[in-house]
Amino acid sequence: MTNTPKYIFVTGGVSSSLGKGIISASLAKLLQSKGLKVTIQKLDPYINIDPGTLNPYEHGECYVTKDGTETDLDLGHYERFLSIQTTKTNNTTTGKIYQSVINRERRGDFLGKTVQVIPHITNEIKRRIQLISTEDSYDIIITELGGTVGDIESYPFIEAVRQFRWDVGEKNSLVIHLTLLPFLSAAGELKTKPTQHSVKKLMESGVNADIIVCRTERSIGEDLRSKIALFCNVNINSVIESIDAKTIYEVPLLMQQEKLDEVVLNKLNLPNTKSDLKDWKNFVKKLKNPKQNIKIGLIGKYVELQDSYKSILESFVHAGAINELKIDVIPIHSESIESNNVAKELSKLDGILVAPGFGERGIEGKISSIKYARENNLPFLGICLGMQMAVIEFARNVLNLSSANSTEMDDSTKHPVISLMDDQLDVEDKGGTMRLGSWKCKIVKESLAYKIYNEEAISERHRHRYELNFDYMDKLANSGMVFSGLNPKTGLVEIIEIPNHDWFLGVQFHPEYQSTVENPHPIFVSFVKACKNKSKK
Ligand code: GLN
Repeated sequence: MTNTPKYIFVTGGVSSSLGKGIISASLAKLLQSKGLKVTIQKLDPYINIDPGTLNPYEHGECYVTKDGTETDLDLGHYERFLSIQTTKTNNTTTGKIYQSVINRERRGDFLGKTVQVIPHITNEIKRRIQLISTEDSYDIIITELGGTVGDIESYPFIEAVRQFRWDVGEKNSLVIHLTLLPFLSAAGELKTKPTQHSVKKLMESGVNADIIVCRTERSIGEDLRSKIALFCNVNINSVIESIDAKTIYEVPLLMQQEKLDEVVLNKLNLPNTKSDLKDWKNFVKKLKNPKQNIKIGLIGKYVELQDSYKSILESFVHAGAINELKIDVIPIHSESIESNNVAKELSKLDGILVAPGFGERGIEGKISSIKYARENNLPFLGICLGMQMAVIEFARNVLNLSSANSTEMDDSTKHPVISLMDDQLDVEDKGGTMRLGSWKCKIVKESLAYKIYNEEAISERHRHRYELNFDYMDKLANSGMVFSGLNPKTGLVEIIEIPNHDWFLGVQFHPEYQSTVENPHPIFVSFVKACKNKSKK
């Protein structure tokens, strides 16, 4: 529509984990449904260059974009809501900002000048906020600021937003502040004081919130809305209720009821056209009215943390809705599974997914679970480490190579069925050096994989260092393992399956990164169907 994009900043106050990513993605969805071209980016105030080196316990899942950038999990929400493909420009960290300023200082770009937070760091933040508009032309660019207003790490970002708003002009940008209204049961009421304080904190940095979105467990009445408007310096129609929803996919519809999109368009001087949310509403309807429940075990070592396997859980939601099923994902800690309890734990399930991961902890439980699934015709999907464990299980129990292992777990194993790729051998740095991003894969006809994709040339996103060892391919194939997806250039094995089983598939890539509401990933759709069939038997 326009050549100069409008900018929306989303900040957070009072508490972390209020769902800035979901609010940003929901607003983007509403604006997109009106025919606007929208994208979202995330600014993360931590000093790591990217979350690739962060433990999932610290930061949840590490999401990987098509260009191989390890990014914040919120980018997954942006892609799933908007059906867009993000890249390295959609996620910046303090680490990246400082790294580029320091590199320029070393090159001599600032000769003679003292390099300071203002203006050098803030200029770099502002440059990166606009970088995305050089890649494509957008009507609206939403920028989500990680962290909470008042955090030391957030100051340079807030300051950059203050300056940025002057640079682009008032009608070309706005700030949405997401806050929490806690309910005090002793007083029997929702409290606005923390919100007032966090809005003031923002104002102290020279940034006024134009819209306040209030996360709340209970509906907020007119009185509370006008109180918040009065104390927080906004119109009453700019106080938006964000009540806890049953599913995150309902949030765009709730935000539409609250007229968040209208208020935003009005403030940005953009026409309010009709929105088309027919497909989205259909999806939510299916999601909320499943015809049947099925149980799928998620076997991993971070299962107690919801965020660690975010994209997998969301892929199940997408695949469940299209199959009109509710998927009860049963988290199973891989360390709790042993050969003597595996049957008891898994026999009540309709299928299992063995999760991606790193390191030795819990792998024997994964291998026992895969053995059970293979021998009992239980639908099995192994992702990345899950696929590698399926190869090890097959080598140990079908080929009788009892010491078969991955060199990641035992670098002196006699049978390294999974080993480092040649180009990984000399890699020393841990950050950003795995096999990352989208790689092409050729599917072998007359395989389960071909039935699933119904095409020969696919591409999927990767994040790993180890691979199936070529030296064992013949032996594995002679005993019945099929390599149904191969990298067309290098021959690396990307998909394995076992044909004398109803549904047994291992993938070296991460299908979960590409599942969206509009396009549920075919592997998950097919896997869920197989689990449904199993549940009937
Ligand atoms: N640790 C394995 C590797 O590096 C698997 C990685 C993963 O599951 N993402 O190859």
